Amino acid sequence: MTRPLNFDPYALKTPAFVVDERLIAKNLARLGEIKERTGCRILLALKGFSMFSTFRLIRKTLDGTCASSVHEARLGRETFGGEVHAFAAAFSPEDMENFLGLCDHLVFNSFSLWEKFRPMTLSAPRKISCGIRVNPERSVGKVAIYDPCAPGSRLGVRRRDFRPDLLGGIEGLHFHALCEQNSHELALVLEAFVTNFGEFIPSMHWINFGGGHHITRDDYDMDRLCQLILDFRKEFRGIPVYLEPGEAIALNTGFLVAEVLDITGSEGWPHAILNTSATCHMPDVLEMPYRPDIIGSGDEGEKAHTYQLGGLSCLAGDRIGSYSFDTPLTVGDRLVFTDMAHYSMVKTNTFNGIPLPSIYRIDMEGRLHLEREFEYQDFKTRLG
Ligand SMILES: *Cc1c(COP(=O)(O)O)cnc(C)c1O
Repeated sequence: MTRPLNFDPYALKTPAFVVDERLIAKNLARLGEIKERTGCRILLALKGFSMFSTFRLIRKTLDGTCASSVHEARLGRETFGGEVHAFAAAFSPEDMENFLGLCDHLVFNSFSLWEKFRPMTLSAPRKISCGIRVNPERSVGKVAIYDPCAPGSRLGVRRRDFRPDLLGGIEGLHFHALCEQNSHELALVLEAFVTNFGEFIPSMHWINFGGGHHITRDDYDMDRLCQLILDFRKEFRGIPVYLEPGEAIALNTGFLVAEVLDITGSEGWPHAILNTSATCHMPDVLEMPYRPDIIGSGDEGEKAHTYQLGGLSCLAGDRIGSYSFDTPLTVGDRLVFTDMAHYSMVKTNTFNGIPLPSIYRIDMEGRLHLEREFEYQDFKTRLG
């Protein structure tokens, strides 16, 4: 897992996110190959990765963005270009006014929303291609909060609630049922989608296979993905297919660099308190939950010196885990957490007034750019 570091962690203002465009380019090469082999279109899901200073690079390969809100749609329109798609569990009339000026595709979560907004959508000055999100009811997720097909899901229309009588003006069907999954799981979901909704596909202009495809993970079966898309497009007369991954674009492309502020405690392994926080800067460590990797570290007890790594906040559970190192940690040491680009940068918060990490970008020539630092005003202006 551990790669040699391409930057000096002591040359940064910490805490800091560092995203390396050369690593993004590696992911884009795979995504570009899928587009080439299948003719599908691929969008960046902004909710997973929104560091727009990298979009000059990403838009060379991908076709546009998909948004979960008006703000993301606007970010996609302003900073990425290409196609802008949007889906949310519901839209307010005010959302709709804004989406109509920003979006190319709009995906509705229910037929009641579609009925309500159909007149304003179809008469909008900008041509908008509308779709319905469906629930294939084929659960392949292991964690219920990340499984849109879990029992009781509010996401997507089930076959028994589907309204063929209201399809006038609907040009696409959308499903999203995966999270960090391989193409084997996509095959199961796609089969259920075709079984349940296949009769409506011939009258559609596009089908969106959603996100959650872990395409840039080492063991991802790209050949199977390509075959699934090619077979599907063959069966349905070349219908355009969209994928909208977020994580796959930024997987293994970014780091969070933090500094040791104190070593303390006598119960169990000593605590190393860092100038970062799980709950503020990498909340998925607690929510998902998962154990992030740190360059040069081992599991608890594996190397000579073990520490419990803890965050700055007052939350008792703001703990990252126990890690071991070859040499003792000392105050001022910098630790480099890996794979921190996706779903960390977009989820940061300023709980306890803890400063947000600075944002650095490494360009294709290996040069380090400080894109953004945060200060007191960034904290204050969110609160009044
Ligand atoms: C979350 C989400 C995505 C992106 O998912 P990843 O797991 O980041 O690939 C795409 N589409 C929809 C509708 C989503 O909710």
